[in-house]
Order: sequence, then C-alpha cells, then structure tokens
Amino acid sequence: MTSYKGEGFYERLGVKPAINAWSWVTVMGGSIMPPPVVRAMEEASKSFVDMHDLNARAGEVIAKLTGAEAGLVTAGSAAGMLLQAAACMTGTDPAKIDRLPDSRGMKNQIVLHRAHRVGYVRTYRAAGAKLVEIGDLERTEEWELEAAINRKTAAVAYVYGPKMGGAIPLESVVEIAHARGVPVIVDAAAMLPPVENLTRYIAAGADMVSFSGGKGVMGPQSTGILCGTKELIAAAYLNSAPHSEGVGRPAKVPKEEIAGIVTALELFVDTDQDAQRADWRQKAQVVVAGLQGIAGVTTTLVDAKPELQDSHSGHARAIVSWDTATMGLTDEDVVARLKDGDPPIYLGTDGPEGGIAVVPVALREGEPEIIVDRLRGILGGRRIGSRARRA
Ligand SMILES: *Cc1c(COP(=O)(O)O)cnc(C)c1O
Repeated sequence: MTSYKGEGFYERLGVKPAINAWSWVTVMGGSIMPPPVVRAMEEASKSFVDMHDLNARAGEVIAKLTGAEAGLVTAGSAAGMLLQAAACMTGTDPAKIDRLPDSRGMKNQIVLHRAHRVGYVRTYRAAGAKLVEIGDLERTEEWELEAAINRKTAAVAYVYGPKMGGAIPLESVVEIAHARGVPVIVDAAAMLPPVENLTRYIAAGADMVSFSGGKGVMGPQSTGILCGTKELIAAAYLNSAPHSEGVGRPAKVPKEEIAGIVTALELFVDTDQDAQRADWRQKAQVVVAGLQGIAGVTTTLVDAKPELQDSHSGHARAIVSWDTATMGLTDEDVVARLKDGDPPIYLGTDGPEGGIAVVPVALREGEPEIIVDRLRGILGGRRIGSRARRA
C-alpha cells in the first residue's frame, strides 16, 4: 500500500480536481476552506476535550453572532432541520426523545408552504414529523396557515430555497404562529452571505434558524449552525450527539469540525463583503466579455439581488444561452463537454433564466479565463472583430 506522502491524493485515487462554476454545492464538495480554518481543525485534532464543554462554548459564539439566545454546531443545515423538527416535538422530555422517530401521541405536525417543498424537507419526516402543506407555488393565503394550525402542530417551517414566490412573508407567519403558541423554524441553508442574514430571521421572530457551514461560510462541508431560543436549542442538543439516544445521533459533529466552523464563522463576519461581491461580479464579467461576438450566442451578466431573499440571487452570475436548434447543441451537451474536458468544468443548467449559468462564487484566479476558452471552443466562435478591438 502507498501511504499518504503529502501530495497527489486525488491523482492516486484517479479523481480529477475540477473547476467549480456551479456554486457551493454538495456534489462539488461545497467550498474550499481558507487556510486558518484548516489549521484550526488540525490543532483541534491533537487534543481530547469534553465535547459538552466544546459544544457549549461554540454555541455561545453562534448565539453572539446570530443575535439568538443560544446556538449549536450541526452536521449541516439538513441535520439542523432534523434537529429542529425533533426539538419541537420532544422538547427536553427524555421519554419522547427516546421514542422518535415514532412520534405518536406528540405534537408532530409541521406546517409547510408548498412553495418551500425542497428535497431537504424530508429531514423533518426523518425525525418523525408529518408535513401539512398549504398554498401553491404562486400564492398562499393567511387563512390557509391559520386553518392548518391545530393541537397537533409542532412547528411552522419556513424554507429559503431557489425561488421564493408564493409564500406568506416570514413576519406574518411568525405573527400567526406565535398567536397560537406555535414555534417557527427556518431553513436558511444557502442564505449566507450576505452576512446580514445571520441575524435577519431571528430578528424577524423565528424560534430556530438553520444555516449551512460549508457553503458561503466556507467552513467544513459537513457542518452547519443552528440558533434559536435557549429551550429549543437545549432540546435539539439532547436529540443529537454526543448523547447516544437521539434521532439526530447519526449526524455527529467531531471536535475538528467544531473548530473549523467556529473559525470560519469568525472569518466570515470579518469579510469585506463589498470587495467580495465586486470580485465575483468581475469574474462573471470576464466570462461575459470573453464570450461576446460568437454568432448565435448571448451572454449576459445577471447582477446580485440579495433583496429577493432566495438561494440563487445573492451573487452575480453569467448566463450563456444560444438557439439550441440552429447550433445543434443542447444545454446538457455543453455541460457534458465541459465536464469531459481537462480540467473538468462543472456548472448548472437549472438557473431561473434558462441557458447555462457560470456562477463565480467558487471560481479561483484564472479560472474564468479557462472557462471562456473552453466555451469558445465548444460554441464554435472566433471572436468577431476581436483583432480590431485588441489593436
Ligand atoms: C444546501 C441546502 C440544504 C442542505 O444543507 P447542508 O448544509 O448541505 O446539509 C438545505 N436547504 C437548502 C434550501 C439548501 O440550499
């Protein structure tokens, strides 16, 4: 066996490092951790600690940065959602904690907008909750929420996914739920940055908010943060590791990852956001400028619109589209050819604008130019008038 000698790990396994023009998505490995995060993880790996103590201290950092009463490091936002559901069903009752995912006899319904039905909501069901859906993708009436809440309601969930049409505003959801003594749990996994969103949903009255640690916060990919009221965070913790009996026990968070996410969060809140946004816009702009003048191809810059409060609009991106019939190339063909090249380039086709989206947030220096070259090769263009422009 060859053991690790400090380099060439991916090569040895025959796995090709890729250019990530897709975003901080799980299938690409999330984000690249800044060196101080990796160093903190390495340092933490060298000592044993009391995990209750470490979790409590990390929770205090999360509470301070989110404006919540309490916080907890989770194994990702999806794990945070599972713990939200469990906490709202069991509270701190050890007998109920022991019984999940069998939630019979507990308040076990979670009310959810149909407009919020992303795949991750199955984590609520995994905890043992039953989903009660309201509204449709276009519109939801307040009376639908009022009518859905009953004696069995454990929580109202609010999920910030790719598109946010059709849901009642969070503030109104909080008002309606709280008037009936029901907590509101928020999944804001992909809503960081902007940094203002760290405090936004708690300030709007949410009782628990879950974020990813391995997307825009650039912490370990398998981390998340959960913040909320003292009581609900205590209940979430009792449902998870290091306790051995909770439904959240398989989503264990080790000491190294706690060190990593806490360090990443501290770096994140100190980031110069204007400079970062400008850098992303500039990278998208390189792609837009580089692809001008190819017959039949349109490349446009879509600016960040963080005020839309959805998981796609927090940063600028370049959208490349063409007439698929005349070019004889579908979006999927181009995505596949980028992936098959060297280095592989990965990007998404599912942007709200159609076409392929070059998302700059995970691109490194020099990568936008490589993407331009490869796309020019595939889309066939020689730059019209490029010589004149350069002269
Ligand atoms: C990414 C994402 C999740 C899952 O987050 P992890 O940190 O990967 O567990 C949940 N909800 C939404 C809306 C997401 O975008």
